[in-house]
Amino acid sequence: MTTTTSSDIPLPRPVSAEAVTGLRSALVGDVFGPGDDGYQEHRRVWNGSIDRYPAVIARCSGVDDVRAALRFGQDYELPIAVRAGGHSFPGLSTCDYGLLIDLRPMSGVRVDPDARVAGAQAGVLLEELDAATQEHGLAVPAGIVSHTGLAGLTLGGGIGWIMRKFGLTVDSLLSADLVTVDGEFVRASEDENADLFWGLRGGGGNFGVVTDFRFRVHPLGPQVMAGATFWRIEEAVPVLRRYRDWLADCPDELMTLVAQRLAPPLPAVPPDLVGRPVIAVLACYAGDVDDGERVLRPMREFGSPVLDLFGVKPFVAHQQMLNPSFRHGCWYYVRSCDVADLSDPVIDIVAEYGRRISSPLSSIALWQMGGAVARIAEDKTAFSGRGAGFTFNINGNTEAADGFDEQRQWARDYWSALAPFHTGVYVNFLMEEGDARVRQAYGDAKYDRLRALKRKYDPSNVFRLNQNIRPD
Ligand SMILES: Cc1cc2nc3c(=O)[nH]c(=O)nc-3n(C[C@H](O)[C@H](O)[C@H](O)COP(=O)(O)OP(=O)(O)OC[C@H]3O[C@@H](n4cnc5c(N)ncnc54)[C@H](O)[C@@H]3O)c2cc1C
Repeated sequence: MTTTTSSDIPLPRPVSAEAVTGLRSALVGDVFGPGDDGYQEHRRVWNGSIDRYPAVIARCSGVDDVRAALRFGQDYELPIAVRAGGHSFPGLSTCDYGLLIDLRPMSGVRVDPDARVAGAQAGVLLEELDAATQEHGLAVPAGIVSHTGLAGLTLGGGIGWIMRKFGLTVDSLLSADLVTVDGEFVRASEDENADLFWGLRGGGGNFGVVTDFRFRVHPLGPQVMAGATFWRIEEAVPVLRRYRDWLADCPDELMTLVAQRLAPPLPAVPPDLVGRPVIAVLACYAGDVDDGERVLRPMREFGSPVLDLFGVKPFVAHQQMLNPSFRHGCWYYVRSCDVADLSDPVIDIVAEYGRRISSPLSSIALWQMGGAVARIAEDKTAFSGRGAGFTFNINGNTEAADGFDEQRQWARDYWSALAPFHTGVYVNFLMEEGDARVRQAYGDAKYDRLRALKRKYDPSNVFRLNQNIRPD
């Protein structure tokens, strides 16, 4: 392997070829400098609008590799990015001219069905965890797009299809192993380093590199009643009002999302609908499938649905339903906020901006919160917003640069129109929006508690490529 760069790649300045060779000999995993075969592949993240060139990529195979890479990054005073699944919306898991610690090779999952515990290394994707746990009819509550990384999702909180029944991802976390900035190996749980355990459950990658998680697992499926019903956007207001009323006494087993997008050219979609804006209610019932059928029916039969994709299916299949809508490499921009409820004015805004969708990749997901998430005390974990009624995730997306500015503006305008109703924001749905917004996401009291923890574990802010808790 060479470490020369081709002329179209910016040359990272501070790291010599000899230094990269030195790191290579210190690691079991692979190390890539610019120009090495594989560098281009491994420097990329999920969001195609993020195009950065690390000076060196360390693909870590275990705790010792993480330690060695961290030492190297600090010796050379490099910016240090940590990457698991690479799905940070703003691309915080890569950097220019710095060290990229890539945890993806650490992808082991182990399930103990008798103890109802699952362990997962930090590079695991949701689909890998789902596959291993569902083999035993068990599940860890996690996200709704199965190529997302478990580590980044967990460290921010973790919302998904079964959270209303079983809580957030962090609510099932039993322990996390972490390498500190000094290379120390630390375990955090309710009994060991409890302050750190509190901070890791929502405080992101601010305190060190997590190498391993242990979760409590819950019985689920493997068959669930799940899917989506679609209506023309013209029906958005009555559908949303009906949806609001229907949710009023639904059980925790039911978790729903409202989605808006342009109808895709799929065989199931009526041809006259393709490319037109639609509104959908998506759901997963984390319980008996007949109960799920009964609970869902009134919503599915409301008004004039144009497409119904509900059915009894494997949970792992439902977890993959949205994957094609969020392909790697497209250009993504997101704005997010929580709201207390679906008041008539909020519904009117949703209907209006839904009609204005103009990219086949732009969409919104409006998450129903509550249930088990809201029954855990707000100060139990660093995750903030347990009392939120709904969470908006507004995605202005394109295949590539063409048209991206327009979609981004649509997402910003949509979010701004909702501003009078904002109650908070989920930290994992933030872009790079500045320190004040991170503080806002946690609230003053939690932010100050996180800052005290940051001073203890990372006083020099080595781990700053994240939704950063500033130590100063
Ligand atoms: C398509 C898509 C779908 C999503 N769906 C959901 C969803 O259903 N529910 C939900 O809650 N969120 C969801 N998210 C948001 C998601 O939780 C965050 O983007 C999360 O950061 C992704 O984790 P990752 O490991 O893939 O990210 P990465 O980009 O690898 O990392 C994200 C951040 O976490 C830090 N980090 C990652 N691993 C470690 C580690 N081991 N130790 C220390 N720091 C680390 C990184 O440095 C970076 O700052 C989704 C995002 C996308 C793009």
